[in-house]
Amino acid sequence: MTDLHRLSIREMAEGLKSAQFSSRELTQHYLDRIAKLDDRVNSYVTVTPEYALAQADAADNLLKNGTAGTLAGVPLAHKDIFCTQGIKTSAGSKMLDNFISPYDATVVAKAKAAGLVTLGKVNMDEFAMGSTSESSFYGATKNPWNLEHVPGGSSGGSAAVVAADLAPFATGTDTGGSIRQPASFCGLTGLKPTYGRVSRFGMIAFASSLDQGGPMARSAEDCAFLMNTIAGHDTKDSTSINKEVDNYVANLNATAVKGLRIGIPKQYFNVQGLDAEVKARVEESLKTLENMGAILVEIDLNMTEAYVPTYYLIAPAEASSNLSRYDGVRYGYRCENPKDILDLHKRSRSEAFGAEVQRRILIGTYALSAGYYDAYYVKAQKVRRLIQQDFLTAFENVDVIAAPSAPTTAYKIGANLSPTEMYLGDIYTLAVNLAGLPAINAPVGFDKDSLPVGLQLIGNYWSESQLLSIVHQYQQNTDWHTKRAAIAEENA
Ligand code: GLN
Repeated sequence: MTDLHRLSIREMAEGLKSAQFSSRELTQHYLDRIAKLDDRVNSYVTVTPEYALAQADAADNLLKNGTAGTLAGVPLAHKDIFCTQGIKTSAGSKMLDNFISPYDATVVAKAKAAGLVTLGKVNMDEFAMGSTSESSFYGATKNPWNLEHVPGGSSGGSAAVVAADLAPFATGTDTGGSIRQPASFCGLTGLKPTYGRVSRFGMIAFASSLDQGGPMARSAEDCAFLMNTIAGHDTKDSTSINKEVDNYVANLNATAVKGLRIGIPKQYFNVQGLDAEVKARVEESLKTLENMGAILVEIDLNMTEAYVPTYYLIAPAEASSNLSRYDGVRYGYRCENPKDILDLHKRSRSEAFGAEVQRRILIGTYALSAGYYDAYYVKAQKVRRLIQQDFLTAFENVDVIAAPSAPTTAYKIGANLSPTEMYLGDIYTLAVNLAGLPAINAPVGFDKDSLPVGLQLIGNYWSESQLLSIVHQYQQNTDWHTKRAAIAEENA
């Protein structure tokens, strides 16, 4: 079959179970596509053909003797921030270009245990800091919809592999939008779960109080399958929550859209820099939901202006602390011929960290330093609490909150936004992480340049099932999630 990559995850799993094709055939199909097409997209940092085919054969055995789990034999790609035993984990950085983890991240271990096949590790902004994937040591990933544009970031590789059909779905991480914004830029569905729902063990830390892993795929249904695999309590992550996990697939129709109260924050639709076409597509999608029975309710989120400064204080502060472990001694890059230990630290870090990472370490170290700690870091923590409170108040009156995922469609590669311009592009995603809430991006159309636009729905804590269900039903009524970029239509 030449069009295996057009199947949904459910169809793939069913095709494997009914022996219409084997996992080896399916895996080889993707490996062929990667070999033929990825030069143009630059989405994989590492492709693991032998490893993948061995996993595929193991899955085929389970399938033959009838002991295979739901997703056994289905391929996926991991963001190169998840540690993979025996396979390089770079976090998009020269610092970890030589790093081979001795263990698997819990997300990776769970995917393996479910019989999923790892095609490889995909590109990302260095240490997940960025919104374009251009800060990667491995060069910029291209947006499959238009190869002159970025796929978004930091999980740009995860978005690009799915949009180009170089993997059926992928893991991503979201510290301030890195699942939702690339999903939006590449016309995909991406879910940022509630903080603590997916284990962070073995996920290279950026800002630990904000980081959360999640699925990126074409549809809510595909995301639900991956969530069923990766969600859950993990004793190896002290912030992971011991709370029963929903069956996200079984719940896909469980939330009634009829009567659902969707909050529309006044402040969000008046943001300077919100592109008129993005606004129009998002409003059209809300109209569709209204026609399906939802009730649109105008709400206030008064802290909107504080999102960007608060996040860009707290995230760098945590990053400066987390990244202090890269000292040139224990693992990672080490400079040549150091004069002494200070020279070793200094040159290893200066030579191996890129500009954006260095900028964040400097800002974060400054904000945490004696004398500034109270004025900046403590103040930001207080504002963070007010932002959370703003959402909790809103959720007394509405079930979910709607917003664009990003104010614009995908930027051009090399647009060279100033750091401030780039940070302002995160206005719609940051608060969700500051509050620890779940949120989802759904594709809702295109702008005049045929670049995808995304709708974001923000839910209350633990509402992943509800968010997936709403988007699933929206996707039963629309076909944006089935549209494919030209490169995805090409055969290997
Ligand atoms: N763009 C944001 C940043 O650069 C978010 C990144 C992320 O979620 N990892 O910090």
